[in-house]
Amino acid sequence: MADTATGTAFRTCPLCEAACGLELTTRDDRIVAARGDREHVFSHGFICPKGATFGELAADPDRLRRPLVRRGDRHVEAGWDEAFQAVEQGLRPILERHGPHAVALYLGNPNVHTMAGGLYLAPLLRTLGSRNIFSASTVDQMPKHVSCGYLFGNPLTIPVPDLDRTDLLLVLGANPWESNGSLATAADFPGRLKAIQARGGRFVVVDPRRTRTAEHADEHLFIRPGTDAYLLFGIVHTLYAEGLVDLGGLDAHVTGVDQVRELARAFPPERVSAVCAVPAERIRGLARELAAAPTAAVYGRIGTCTVEFGTLTSWLVDVVNVLTGNLDRPGGVMFPLAPHVRPRAGAGGKGFRVGRWHSRVRGLPEVKGELPVATLADEIDTPGAEQVRAFVTVAGNPVLSTPNSERLDRALDGLDFMVSVDPYLNETTRHADVILPPGDPARKGHYDFSFLGLAVRNFAAYSPPALAPDPAGLDECDILARLTLIAAGAGAAADPAVLHDQLLGLALQRAEAVTGTPAAELRALVRGDHPAERLLDVALRTGAYGDGFGARPGGLSLDRLLDNPHGVDLGPLQPRLPGVLQTPSGRVELYAAPIAADVERLRVALDRDHHDLVLVGRRHLRSNNSWMHNVPALVKGRDRCTLQVHPADAARLALVDGGAAQVTSRAGTLSARVEVTDRVMPGVVSLPHGWGHDRPGTRMTVAGAHPGVNSNVLTDELAIDQLSGNSVLNGIPVQVKAEA
Ligand code: SF4
Repeated sequence: MADTATGTAFRTCPLCEAACGLELTTRDDRIVAARGDREHVFSHGFICPKGATFGELAADPDRLRRPLVRRGDRHVEAGWDEAFQAVEQGLRPILERHGPHAVALYLGNPNVHTMAGGLYLAPLLRTLGSRNIFSASTVDQMPKHVSCGYLFGNPLTIPVPDLDRTDLLLVLGANPWESNGSLATAADFPGRLKAIQARGGRFVVVDPRRTRTAEHADEHLFIRPGTDAYLLFGIVHTLYAEGLVDLGGLDAHVTGVDQVRELARAFPPERVSAVCAVPAERIRGLARELAAAPTAAVYGRIGTCTVEFGTLTSWLVDVVNVLTGNLDRPGGVMFPLAPHVRPRAGAGGKGFRVGRWHSRVRGLPEVKGELPVATLADEIDTPGAEQVRAFVTVAGNPVLSTPNSERLDRALDGLDFMVSVDPYLNETTRHADVILPPGDPARKGHYDFSFLGLAVRNFAAYSPPALAPDPAGLDECDILARLTLIAAGAGAAADPAVLHDQLLGLALQRAEAVTGTPAAELRALVRGDHPAERLLDVALRTGAYGDGFGARPGGLSLDRLLDNPHGVDLGPLQPRLPGVLQTPSGRVELYAAPIAADVERLRVALDRDHHDLVLVGRRHLRSNNSWMHNVPALVKGRDRCTLQVHPADAARLALVDGGAAQVTSRAGTLSARVEVTDRVMPGVVSLPHGWGHDRPGTRMTVAGAHPGVNSNVLTDELAIDQLSGNSVLNGIPVQVKAEA
């Protein structure tokens, strides 16, 4: 731990998926400066404006440091024991009378950036046993999980573009110049894109907006929102029609090539061009360039997931990668190997399926253990057996981040009980009866359980806490452990150490199976001052590069990472086929019956008329969803929450730059300030997401002074990608008119 009087601490930035190394200056129990860690093995000194505010975010005066308990219509500070007693009194009667499904749980995006989220949410979910589990995944990335589940047998087996070696990168619906990347962990993503050009390669961006990424690209193609599946099928059609399919030596590891040829017949470039607005000859050109490039990678992100055919689009991204011989080879798309993961011995597995249960009201299938958040309000406000009566949120703000947020906002008022694990009294937690605030990020250890498995280069890093724990605070692992013990019926006063020990025991049993050494002997060898550190130590030592508890001297362990505060480089990505595959055949299965059925739906939709005007979202470098708008440095400057409108549409609709517009969809209406710009294509308007900080009863001073408008007032909870349940947040039909 760093000297709390003054000193330097190194840690991984937990604020987005890029996993940059930070160099923090600490003084008097505060972070007084944050800069890029120049010696970091992965980020080499890169930092973005969000990372530079790490100290401000950690010390935000609005951050809750003690629990809040509702008293009448006010939230008042309470002691930890009192707060957990209130949780027990609120939750247990509902569990006992109505069963586990009457308690819903929502996990927000920041959970993938904490060790507590990586280690302690699974036990909470298992113990609770509710079918009503929801998360940000179904407003963000579930289509990618589903497509990878069908293709590779595991929804977490996601190939990433090998940015540092590729010759041609096709980027669809992603704006890494602002987001720094997603489902592809790449510190200094913009620098890696520039490096492609510097070594003679190219990158092409397909997006309905001319984003900053598009401005730096070798080529930008506008595309009508939600139609990337057509573009990609046009590419696939061309690959077959022109004899360009070449699996690059993977023939023995791939099935379904002939079936995909049949599926693609309905999508010749001329036909899809009319829908997606990309010229047919350019579609053919992209196919030829991807096939001819020494190496190439197709990378699709948020704009390809949050659409009606999100899973098909995500599937097609990797179909093109396979058919052009770019799966699992340097410069193509590859499978990272995270240090805490132990590679499987051989190919094959049970494969992937959805629908182990269905939502009560709309009958939507479970995917990856959760239900679509688009139906959360239905489950709360529709009476009947197993109606949701209690709600647990962990680091989530679904009132701002999920579709038809006004309806969800109203539904939360009808709950019998709600508890939130969250550092803020925000638009969602204002409904909670109890708020349990985790400590600030500077006081936690950090290891990226999620993102090291998505990194474009294999590496490992662990950051111990930069500051001493708040003596009056409660560790986030302890908070989740105490909630788990309450759900288990052990009571509000149960010692979280009981669960910590159980989890370590289970980890050691697995380690015994790997090492052959009795768990009791291994327990004596485990290092770490904190329960999460001890679990990490076991995972690292039995992981892909681990020291095997002494069997492989020099291998990874917690101690090795503590000795290397700038991280340990584990080299470029390596081919992992076929061992990484968990499909029943042990091969990449290009064809799956649910995919084929949805292709038929896509074919039928070729004949649809397109809407006059559709809404898309947008991302800004100084924002990450809704959770960084209370930091002055990140919201200062001109209002970014504008409705971007193309000049032709502005003229047609009598909208003026700086004027007000009323935007209406099936779900709702809002007013926004107009920004006339040719950065959006005609027929498209754009609002950023994560704003709308104007609700009463919140305690976020800075955000409240820069409220913006909530784009999810307009998004429609009835519009989902059928295969994944992901919400459609891009391509929302809207009407826009000038306001006086
Ligand atoms: S790019 Fe992401 S990880 Fe890097 S400094 Fe910015 S917020 Fe942090």
